[in-house]
Amino acid sequence: MLLNKETELTQDSYYEASVARAAASPALAGRSSADVCVIGAGLAGLSAALELAQRGYKVTVLEAKQVGWGASGRNGGQAIVGYASDDAIEAQLPAADARRAWTLTVEGLQLLRDRIGSHGIECDYRPGYLSLARNPKKGRELADWARHLQQDYGYPLQAIPPQQMPHWIASKRYHSGAFDPNSGHLHPLKYCLGLAAAARAAGVVIHENAPVTQVLRGARPLVKTAHGEVACNFVVLAGNVYLNEFGHAIAPQLSPRIMPVGTYITATEPIDAARAAALIPSQAAVCDTNFVLDYFRLSADHRLLFGGRVSYSAVTPRNLEAAMRQRMLDVFPQLSDLALSHTWGGFVDITLNRAPDFGRLDGNLYYLQGFSGHGLALTGMAGKLVAETIAGQAERFDLLARIKHRPFPGGALMRMPALVLGMLYYRLRDIL
Ligand SMILES: Cc1cc2nc3c(=O)[nH]c(=O)nc-3n(C[C@H](O)[C@H](O)[C@H](O)COP(=O)(O)OP(=O)(O)OC[C@H]3O[C@@H](n4cnc5c(N)ncnc54)[C@H](O)[C@@H]3O)c2cc1C
Repeated sequence: MLLNKETELTQDSYYEASVARAAASPALAGRSSADVCVIGAGLAGLSAALELAQRGYKVTVLEAKQVGWGASGRNGGQAIVGYASDDAIEAQLPAADARRAWTLTVEGLQLLRDRIGSHGIECDYRPGYLSLARNPKKGRELADWARHLQQDYGYPLQAIPPQQMPHWIASKRYHSGAFDPNSGHLHPLKYCLGLAAAARAAGVVIHENAPVTQVLRGARPLVKTAHGEVACNFVVLAGNVYLNEFGHAIAPQLSPRIMPVGTYITATEPIDAARAAALIPSQAAVCDTNFVLDYFRLSADHRLLFGGRVSYSAVTPRNLEAAMRQRMLDVFPQLSDLALSHTWGGFVDITLNRAPDFGRLDGNLYYLQGFSGHGLALTGMAGKLVAETIAGQAERFDLLARIKHRPFPGGALMRMPALVLGMLYYRLRDIL
């Protein structure tokens, strides 16, 4: 069970504190109908809703809490090309299809920028993404990856050799890096709320505080909440790790295919602008290449937003703020005088092979899950692909839906211990 007192504590986010929400939209009451009912108003659900409405469909979105309440409103804000594991995709798909799958992620970044532009979404977008290696071995792996992207996908990354590192980051922790000018970062909750506004403007009806308790399947599914129901032709399941947390399990067969892994972010108080800019002169989003990674970036109001640490239980770690502070100081010891303003977290929906898990149940229920910590840009494409499919063009959706997934050993109940062992192995590899 993910929704308990301890996990609620992790939501003290800088993002939530820096937006003004409109009054909640009304919960669903009585019976209504739609062509498509979307469950979940995160980036995946809202993207699907917007794309469907733009194609002329009547769409209702049901959100258990508030728009952007889940991972979409709390994440690291790094909109990056590729998948959490490009290897998994290359292992399963023929080379030409793997290339098409890669291209979808490049399109996802363009889609994000286009939406920001065409819907006038003010979300502090900044281009630039810096991958950093912690030691020479990881530096060689990063350089190999950059070469592979260039040669096989025609995607140029700028290699950063060790002697140039001081120009890119004011930290001695890193050996070398690679810069991607095409990826970038933004305020994810502002983007999510902007996407919801664009969807509403396109005719989508969004009900907040409307947890879906049951979906009666059939040729015309009935999606039920405590006080209302939506009859529709298609359902899009975009509930992330929370999908089966309310009332009756909606699609219990999906839960063992993803694992909720907690990851956390801390925000400093605003820093003097020049001092902040000196930390990351390119102002890019930054991520190291470790398996249990650190990811950080500067906000528009010159805070350092520093993410990392993982937990494999649904309970917020007790010493969270102190642990996050230490991680930040390991990278930037010069920030020891700064106070932290917010520390929060959320669950990443990882699959066993870290490739996204898209598919259909019964022909008219589509699911989008398993973004594996790499969903900010990819959710946009997921929504677009599901809309194309419902409109009769399934080819691109099926390219990704063909990827095979195995359930976590131990099923929904026992998957945690198995994952902890697996993660310990990778953690040891990071350290060694
Ligand atoms: C701390 C953190 C940092 C991250 N950093 C990054 C990053 O820097 N870059 C990146 O690319 N990705 C990152 N991610 C991952 C990224 O945020 C997710 O992949 C993405 O937001 C998933 O979007 P979603 O719409 O699938 O899920 P969510 O945003 O979680 O939305 C699901 C919504 O469905 C609702 N819901 C669920 N079940 C029901 C139901 N039965 N009835 C009604 N509503 C329901 C929930 O309330 C929720 O609002 C991060 C994630 C976390 C938690």
